[in-house]
Amino acid sequence: MRNVFVLLLWTGLCTASSSAQQQSFTYTLRLTDPTLDRVEIVFDTGPFREEEVRFFLPAWAPGNYYVNDYGRWIDSVRAFDSLSRPLKVHRAGINEWRIGDARRLARITYTARDIPEDSLESLPTTLNEITPRYFYANGPTVFGYVDGHLAVPCSLRTVFPADWKVWSSLDSVAPFGFHADDYDQLIDCPVLAGPSTIEEHRFEVNGVPYIAVFNSETKVPSDSLVEYMKSLISYHTAFFNEVPFRQYYFLFNFFVSTYRYGALEHSNSSAYFLRPPVNARGLRHSTITQVIAHEFFHLWNPKIITPTSLKPFKYQEGPRVHSMWFIEGLTEYYAKLALIRSGLVPRSFFYEQLRGLALENSRENLEQLGLKAGELGVAPSMYTKGALVSFLLDIAIRDQTGNQKSLDDVVLALNRQFGHEGRPYDDRALIKTMEKLAGVDLRRFFKKYISGTDAVPVDEYFRKGGLLYTYVYPPFLGWGLDVDEGGQLFVNAVAEQSTAAALGVRAGDIVRRINGTDIPADLDSVRSIMRKLDSVSVGEPVRVVVERDGASIDLHGTVIGNPLPNVGVVEDPDAGATATAIREGIFRIP
Ligand SMILES: [Zn+2]
Repeated sequence: MRNVFVLLLWTGLCTASSSAQQQSFTYTLRLTDPTLDRVEIVFDTGPFREEEVRFFLPAWAPGNYYVNDYGRWIDSVRAFDSLSRPLKVHRAGINEWRIGDARRLARITYTARDIPEDSLESLPTTLNEITPRYFYANGPTVFGYVDGHLAVPCSLRTVFPADWKVWSSLDSVAPFGFHADDYDQLIDCPVLAGPSTIEEHRFEVNGVPYIAVFNSETKVPSDSLVEYMKSLISYHTAFFNEVPFRQYYFLFNFFVSTYRYGALEHSNSSAYFLRPPVNARGLRHSTITQVIAHEFFHLWNPKIITPTSLKPFKYQEGPRVHSMWFIEGLTEYYAKLALIRSGLVPRSFFYEQLRGLALENSRENLEQLGLKAGELGVAPSMYTKGALVSFLLDIAIRDQTGNQKSLDDVVLALNRQFGHEGRPYDDRALIKTMEKLAGVDLRRFFKKYISGTDAVPVDEYFRKGGLLYTYVYPPFLGWGLDVDEGGQLFVNAVAEQSTAAALGVRAGDIVRRINGTDIPADLDSVRSIMRKLDSVSVGEPVRVVVERDGASIDLHGTVIGNPLPNVGVVEDPDAGATATAIREGIFRIP
């Protein structure tokens, strides 16, 4: 929880130095009437050495990459000297204003409007929401910067209605608000504010504080969600043997009335706009848990393991990142691994996800698509094909090294050699770097399946990893069941070539016993017996007692498979020792 800072005076509180060399900037974010769809910003800069300065809003937001031109929603840009006399302001571009007589400049004021989601690429977490019920802003939508002065430390003051709370992962500085070391950090910490009734959980993992905020239209199973977050945090802490922050914020925005979907990673927080979970059932492997795992892995990739194309950020140029497949695809693969490695889901769930990725099997050139993220946003195949090729790369490395090295080793080495050194990796030479770290040849794989359009050889690589991508024949009971007015379970239909047909069950039969269990009259018990039947396997014995024309008939046989197969991923029963070791290695935390 962060305190509310109500400032009655917000002019003349400039903290910038009186000399022309900036020591610090102060931003004041003011929303006293939340029924208006705009927020006021006062940017106390102090004077500059330059005759004229260029004031910008970013064109794009880190983590989203799509060029949105946030200047589009900025109005009433004014500049003043220390005696509140106006200075000349000239709009020079969609995101740019030029301010004359900058040697006398004291502050810039402007307003930022609520931004509607006008395209799929504009994820809600990259925009702002100025509503009577809450306020959310991703930094680039409200905080402008003066060109050439991004390294100046900043203070942030917030002015919201008196009964609102403010959450931001910036360091809190009482009584003024928050502190950021520089502009990059300021805009990497979104601001959420709303009534003090918004639910908040504080917890620790390994002595590090975490704050989860649930800005939700409905009650959500927050206790369960927090438990799963703890599992994911513990796993990532164990995997990287560190956490790269002093405290961490999860900012959840859950809506039922409007469809919003998106999440965004930051260096010490993550923000979410999602459908709320209705209850705890299925939550451990829900989209929400998977998205949390994805955003948490981003803390390292790309927040710490960063490519040269993203460091330093060029806020006016659409990013051109060669390694977008690594940033989003590899992260997605590790998010799927995180769920199983942290014990939240069984292997079958992971295999089901692999099946989904293999079915998509896009042939898009991921390197070329990544370079277009500024114009098109991050392509969906970056998450699907990107995750699939990351999985296959893991198998390739393990296969070529006799399971002595893995993608885990490469990621951890990149973190040590680049992340810990504060040194970006050259994203045009990433595969070369990965080859060096793993001691294997990956060039051909990269050329064909990542920066090429060859069909990804799913079968071949799955086999090397002890898995089969094959047809499966799921158990096929093949009876339609219903409950009559007297509470009796009866068969209303029997499919051809099904288990029920093979047993001799007929439509109209009343079911009395299944596998030795009497069928009770209450619906809940019937449902629980039916659920057990969902998990039967092909070949398992099955015995049913039915009543037909007043006579009791005992029917028995075995469960048979559906003659119409599905594609599935299963463990290869004929896998050799190496393939089996590779498969088992994938599930182990290194
Ligand atoms: Zn992502």
